[in-house]
Amino acid sequence: MGLEEKLPSGILLTSVEKLVNWTRKASFWPATFGLACCAIEMMATGAARYDTARFGMEVFRASPRQADLMIVAGRVSQKMAPVLRQIYDQMSEPKWVLSMGVCASSGGMFNNYAIVQGVDHVVPVDIYLPGCPPRPEMLLDAILKLHDKILHEPLGEKRRQQLEEAEEQLVKP
Ligand code: SF4
Repeated sequence: MGLEEKLPSGILLTSVEKLVNWTRKASFWPATFGLACCAIEMMATGAARYDTARFGMEVFRASPRQADLMIVAGRVSQKMAPVLRQIYDQMSEPKWVLSMGVCASSGGMFNNYAIVQGVDHVVPVDIYLPGCPPRPEMLLDAILKLHDKILHEPLGEKRRQQLEEAEEQLVKP
């Protein structure tokens, strides 16, 4: 009897998922993308004092094709929304979105016609971070919580279905 027949069903796939997800969460490369004041805190998080490199995030990538994490740092204007969506579409799978600060998550104090009332109108959001602005420690905490989420994500077809559902659930304006 072969090894595969002796093993309980699914054990190999589960182990591969864990291994792949572990490597993914340990090698985030965020897109260089800041929108407003929250971006200053994001930049501070990437600098030497807070040092995101400790968590495998060596560099912010200037090309979306080399990035797998979009940190939406600041309010999203209506004019910027299609640009943001284009950058998201140019990022290759797997990719994740972190909504940083109250403005990115809900429009915040900018309850007006010029600002998108939450980036989840435009792209699927994996994690929301409150605050105005969130401090670097809070951003690091959100990134670590996203790591936990990634560790339990399925691969392949199931992941594709998850992404399709997330797209369907985008908040309609
Ligand atoms: Fe600026 Fe506060 Fe809005 Fe962040 S949440 S973009 S710091 S006003």
